[in-house]
Amino acid sequence: MLSAIAGHLAPRLGLTAICACAIGGAPCRQAETVELIFLDIGQGDAAVVRSPEGKVALIDAGRGAAVVGQLRAHGIESIDIAIASHPHADHIGGMEGVVTSMPVRYYMDNGVPHTTATYIKLMRTLQATNVTYLEATERTINLGSVDLTVIQPPPGGDLNSTSVGIVVEYGDFKALLTGDSEVGELNYWLERGVPDVTVLKAAHHGSRNGVSPTWLNATKPEVVVISCGLNNQYGHPDVWALRYYETVASEVYRTDLNGEVTILGRRNGDYHVQMSKGKTTAAEPRTEPAPVTTPAAAGLTLWVFADAPGNDHYNLNGEYVVITNNSSALMEIGGWNLCDAASACFTFPAGAVIPAGSRVVVYTGSGRSDGASFFMNRGRAVWNNRGDVATLWDSTQRMVARYAY
Ligand SMILES: [Zn+2]
Repeated sequence: MLSAIAGHLAPRLGLTAICACAIGGAPCRQAETVELIFLDIGQGDAAVVRSPEGKVALIDAGRGAAVVGQLRAHGIESIDIAIASHPHADHIGGMEGVVTSMPVRYYMDNGVPHTTATYIKLMRTLQATNVTYLEATERTINLGSVDLTVIQPPPGGDLNSTSVGIVVEYGDFKALLTGDSEVGELNYWLERGVPDVTVLKAAHHGSRNGVSPTWLNATKPEVVVISCGLNNQYGHPDVWALRYYETVASEVYRTDLNGEVTILGRRNGDYHVQMSKGKTTAAEPRTEPAPVTTPAAAGLTLWVFADAPGNDHYNLNGEYVVITNNSSALMEIGGWNLCDAASACFTFPAGAVIPAGSRVVVYTGSGRSDGASFFMNRGRAVWNNRGDVATLWDSTQRMVARYAY
């Protein structure tokens, strides 16, 4: 389980502290950092990008009026560009309040009209002010020394799947925000190429349809932020989606548990995370997806991600097993077997290892092993969604770990 402590520095990057400030106070900022603030606005999205020069982009504005006060609490009195990922109320509901409360230079959206009163009122307000409208076509916008690259949504589709994607880039620090995009839109972008990023905003409030292993393999986030309301009626974030994020990212934050999440990114790619509340594990799901049995060998744990998005038989790499070495010693696993309850087994190739504190992933389908990912090369799903037992056997046929669900 990953821990996310307030003020915690990403240990694997060997960061040095880049600022010191009171936990729970207003996030501090320093020159030469891009500030990425995921506001705590309940069930919805609202994020601020502030460049080292003080230029501000607002990406979505949550549902209600709360966003204006939160912007002011950060000393923000004008917006260089406001971007609506898509016109659902949990993204544009607060936009009219922003436009009427402070100067906004540009307003960008996906160009897809909506029929709601919220949308129509916002459009009328924009027309009545001096805001310059931009449609979200492929382009890069300079926000001081920070680049915002627009990833254009695919034509057609429902509103979620026409969400505008934004890459925030400051030197080697990159973040990706994609509104409420779902797997169809993510796949469309994957075909065109997506960057490997430092920070990923979980699409669609951490719902199951906003993530796939392919998406995470391409974006390779170190930090994932999920923007959602506490005990929201939609069940966001989905427990399996959380597991996907935890498998890939070092740190997973949630605005429902961690409040406002601020990431200060430096040009060399280093970053520092602050959150307004919650010193405990951010990624802890409300309910475990499955009971865990005690592993037979200390130091090794198994997790089975049985329920691939869509039909498991057609998404074989959407189901997989994660084996974590929690010990401080390198584990040599060549010749070991990973088996399901029906004795469908995978034998690890000679030389396979799990470094101390690291993990490997065993996918059901086909692929090229890179030492951290292995493939069972099965033609059909292995892990039963309704319950199964994964066991790991060492080269002397001794069971060393077991996971039942
Ligand atoms: Zn939404």
